[in-house]
Parts: sequence; C-alpha cells; structure tokens
Amino acid sequence: MLNVTTIAGVRSRRRELWQRAQTVALVPTMGALHDGHLRLVDRAGELADEVWVSIFVNPTQFGPGEDFERYPRDLERDRELLATRGVALLFNPSTKEMYPRPGVTTVDLPELAGGMCGAFRPGHFQGVALVVTKLLAIAQPEVAVFGAKDWQQSAIIRRLVEDLNLPVRVEVVPTVREADGLAMSSRNAYLTSQERQAATVLQRALHAGEEAIRGGLIDGRAVERRIAATVAEEPLARLQYAAAVDPDTLQPLGTVTRRALLAVAVHVGATRLIDNLLLEVS
Ligand code: AMP
Repeated sequence: MLNVTTIAGVRSRRRELWQRAQTVALVPTMGALHDGHLRLVDRAGELADEVWVSIFVNPTQFGPGEDFERYPRDLERDRELLATRGVALLFNPSTKEMYPRPGVTTVDLPELAGGMCGAFRPGHFQGVALVVTKLLAIAQPEVAVFGAKDWQQSAIIRRLVEDLNLPVRVEVVPTVREADGLAMSSRNAYLTSQERQAATVLQRALHAGEEAIRGGLIDGRAVERRIAATVAEEPLARLQYAAAVDPDTLQPLGTVTRRALLAVAVHVGATRLIDNLLLEVS
C-alpha cells in the first residue's frame, strides 16, 4: 500500500494509472476505522482496479465545541487494516496540505444542508461538501463510495456531483450494524457500557416509526412523534431530532406515501449519535 501525504503524490500515481487505463474507487474517511468503513472498501474493490482510501479529520466540518480535538485517531491500526484489505493507496494529508491558506470558496446546498443534522451543526455540511469536492478533484476517482449511515451527507454529495457535473460515480453502501442493531460509528468508542446499551434506542425508535407507517400512519409529523416517544423511554437518551423526509430532497414529508427516510439524532450521555432507515411504502 502506498502511503501518500501530498496532493502531488496522489496526482502522480493517478497519472500512472491513466497511462495503464486503470480505474480508481475512492473511500473518503476520517479514520478510526471499523467494519462499516471496511465494507465500503470491499465494495470499492468491486467497482475499480484500485481502491484508494483517504483519512483526514477535516477541521472545517466541526463546529466550535464539537469533538475535533478528541476525535479518535489511530493511524497505525488503520494502516494495517487497509493494507490487509488490499487497498492500493492511503492518502493521509495534513491540514496544511489540504488548507494551505484560509479558504474563500464555499460549496453549499442550502436546501439539503439546512435541515436535520444541518439545523444543529451549522457549517457542518458546507465543510463536508468542500472537503469532498477537494478530495474528488485531487484523486479524480471514477467511483467514490460513501455510507448510508450518514444519509444526509450522501444525499448532499450525490447532488453536488450531479449539479457540478463531476465525472465520478457515487456509490452508497447500506449501514453496517453491530449484532444488536447499533450502527457502527467511530464515535461509539466514546460510550460507557451503560450508554452503549442505551444506544440501541436509535434503532428501536426508527423501527417504531416504521411499524407505525406499516400500520397505516401516514402523517409525517405523527410518525416523527412516534419515533420521539420511543427515544423518550430511554433515560440516558436525549432526542435532538426525529425526521420523516423525502430520501432525495430531504424535505419533510407531510404525508408518507412511497419512499420515506426516517432519521434520528440522539445524545446518549455526552455522545451524539445518528441513524436512519429507508422505507419503501406500498
Ligand atoms: P467517517 O469516517 O465517519 O467520516 O465515515 C467515512 C465513510 O464511512 C462515510 O461515507 C460514512 O457514511 C461511512 N460509514 C460510517 N459508518 C458506517 C456504517 N456503520 N455503515 C456504513 N458506512 C459507514
């Protein structure tokens, strides 16, 4: 596995592959890798000749008071995991390499970034959209692979790639879960064992929403209330939002008809967790 820290290094490898007519699938991550990330890597391997992974804890997507400084970092372990998974190139740039001077360019999709997590993390998706645009411009992959666990993020990326005509296919991989249903996340490492138990409430709440819809409830607000009520049953959990939205536009669904995305953000102790469920309603 090539370990590359500079943009020039990535570009040089990319030129070599073009000469050999070989394709690249890029998996952007912030590291502290778990099986969810590795599923993305495996999927990427099915879609291109080489899998490239980036590990960059992007400061511009963290707000003041968020966990940028204490975000889990374990580069040595990540490197070993990726090497044994057949990854050809790891791009692990410094902040200086990615942001040599204060940026003035913004990438914003207000309609998609304003609600859900965006309402509670101002600037977060502008940071995500900017760094992903930069990573796509640097690596110029044929395919970029993201996880459905961060649904709003993947919807924003799909749309920005479409709107900006970026020559990349966006692949979204279903959420990988622990045995008890908790979505895998680097932030799960923050949870105490009691909180870890309590964290299963996210999945339960989404299923309560699903059951309500399958039972005939079609009022989007009422579905959200059903999800919220389930979260309220868990003493260690505090709901940030429950949403029933259109999976592509992320606009709230007045009436749940065909496709719906149910999404929640919950604080379990001091840790903020998110999860979602895509529903096809017949
Ligand atoms: P992160 O390192 O948290 O920025 O995540 C990097 C990529 O992995 C993003 O596309 C995430 O959506 C994806 N990802 C994170 N957790 C999971 C999971 N449990 N299942 C599937 N994809 C995931």
